[in-house]
Amino acid sequence: MLTGKHLIAGDWVSGDESFANMPVAGTPDRFATGTPDHVERACRAAEDAFPEYAATTRAARASFLRAIADEIEARGAEITAIGTRETGLPEARLEGERGRTTGQLRLFAEHIEAGDYLDRRHDSALPDRAPLPRPDLRMMQRPIGPVAVFGASNFPLALSVAGGDTASALAAGCPVVVKGHSAHPGTGDVVAQAVAAAIESCAMPLGVFSLIQGGNRDVGQALVRHPLIRAVGFTGSIGGGRALFDLCAARPEPIPFFGELGSINPMFLLPSALEARGVEIGTAWAGSLTMGAGQFCTNPGVAVVPEGAGADAFADAAKCSLSETGAQVMLTDGIAEAYRRGRDRVAASAGVRSLLTSTCDLRNATPYLFRTTGAAWLADAALGEEVFGPLGLIVTVADMAEMRAVAAGLDGQLTCTLQMDAEDSAHATDLMPILERKAGRILANGFPTGVEVSDAMVHGGPYPASTNFGATSVGTLSIRRWLRPVCYQNLPEAIVPDDLR
Ligand code: NAP
Repeated sequence: MLTGKHLIAGDWVSGDESFANMPVAGTPDRFATGTPDHVERACRAAEDAFPEYAATTRAARASFLRAIADEIEARGAEITAIGTRETGLPEARLEGERGRTTGQLRLFAEHIEAGDYLDRRHDSALPDRAPLPRPDLRMMQRPIGPVAVFGASNFPLALSVAGGDTASALAAGCPVVVKGHSAHPGTGDVVAQAVAAAIESCAMPLGVFSLIQGGNRDVGQALVRHPLIRAVGFTGSIGGGRALFDLCAARPEPIPFFGELGSINPMFLLPSALEARGVEIGTAWAGSLTMGAGQFCTNPGVAVVPEGAGADAFADAAKCSLSETGAQVMLTDGIAEAYRRGRDRVAASAGVRSLLTSTCDLRNATPYLFRTTGAAWLADAALGEEVFGPLGLIVTVADMAEMRAVAAGLDGQLTCTLQMDAEDSAHATDLMPILERKAGRILANGFPTGVEVSDAMVHGGPYPASTNFGATSVGTLSIRRWLRPVCYQNLPEAIVPDDLR
């Protein structure tokens, strides 16, 4: 059952105004519109909850995270039903995403139980050191305070209300205020009910979690400006993320804004792999491009290929496979419109040829394939901007020097992919120093869609892939965003945190 309300520190709260979701079919549901007053109430409750929550044991927080996962599973069918209606994503995809969501909650439970994330260090006192004695120094990571989370439209579970940002912040000991995404308020409503049930069963302070529905841009702006918020986790567009990032920087007390924004995730086909497997790679690329209607932040939208017969065979294979893909429903009308604007921008660029055209309208996307040269690419920076959807652009380069020039001209990326065989090692070695400066994740002979949630994963990268290139929003390292090191010098044992004793 949908409440249609905000969850603020244990209370389900409505208001004077409401907005409707945009289901793919059927009657829309209505939800209370968020206001700056709701933000004030939720942030104050989060701050009130912080001392008690930050002092909970790691075991207690791990039980809480596992309880959230159990409560989400208990509502699995309901979440899939509303999620498919709101997002147009197929049932199997949402069920898989639910597994990822509960899996990452349980992964963070294990991660904090192990305790390595605390990064505890100890420099023992050296009272007899000359010329000066050394004090006793102990260091540990501590939670920063209330965190604001903006969920992603394209991962309504794994990167949303109880997704990776929320799970990692709660694991760290930080209360969370979520600004719900307007594309899936009903899905967020049911997930918030799961979190509320876990708060109750684990007797956690009520202010540890609030969900404020959107419906109005004021709410997100009030949230990042609120003086009690200590950091922001965001997944979304470059425009939206940059606007909120700038608000964070302009606060009297600036706070970190961890934004995961857009990326074109270029793929570099090296000569031997292209010759041996160009057709196979072209077909597989088309599959990766169209998965989920191309609505993945790691969608590999650009392929950089040495010109010649191999490039032609690769392009033909991709075209053939893409032409068999029909229209797919996109997450929102706005995302579908943005996709068509992006298509028109690419098509209008000098030197770009269309290899595959189709017709799509309303909330649908069909694939497009374009081809250009390295020189034309380097002459038009707009070609390096993300088109969110199933659009591929092949950039043919005259030689490996031009491939390196294309790589060097890239903006920051979440991922860069090398398609390479053993004979390509020298070319790959030449590219590596460039790619390491561009991307958070470099992969060989695969596709970047499908992000493992694990210890070594990095989902981030230099701007605009991310607003903070030192961080990841996926994997256990993401907990570091909500922690800061505190050094305890000569403090009596009795007053340092339990985890340091
Ligand atoms: P979006 O329009 O930026 O929205 C994201 C969130 O920010 C929503 O809650 C939105 O509120 C809010 N928002 C946006 N602009 C705002 C502003 N000026 N003031 C206050 N709040 C604002 O992004 P989207 O349309 O949901 O997602 C599509 C884009 O996200 C694509 O470009 C895609 O590449 C990117 N993305 C990146 C990743 C990644 O991991 N890097 C993952 C998924 C998507 P409303 O709910 O009111 O709209």
